[in-house]
Amino acid sequence: MAAVTYTVTDTCTACGACLLTCPEHAFVVGVPLQVRADRCTDCGECVEICPADAIVRA
Ligand code: SF4
Ligand code: SF4
Repeated sequence: MAAVTYTVTDTCTACGACLLTCPEHAFVVGVPLQVRADRCTDCGECVEICPADAIVRA
């Protein structure tokens, strides 16, 4: 379990790519999207895939 959390900013276009990419299913659907810190392993794949650069490591 990682203590790192990620934040989705308002540049998100709700494309859904991060939801499909996250191997841990850590994203919680909402506005804004939330990342469950208890699931996220800090792999960084969501940051790489996001076309809007909306996911920031916090
Ligand atoms: S860093 Fe990896 S595990 Fe964490 S939310 Fe992004 S894709 Fe999922
Ligand atoms: S990949 Fe980026 S733009 Fe697409 S839903 Fe996720 S945070 Fe939003």
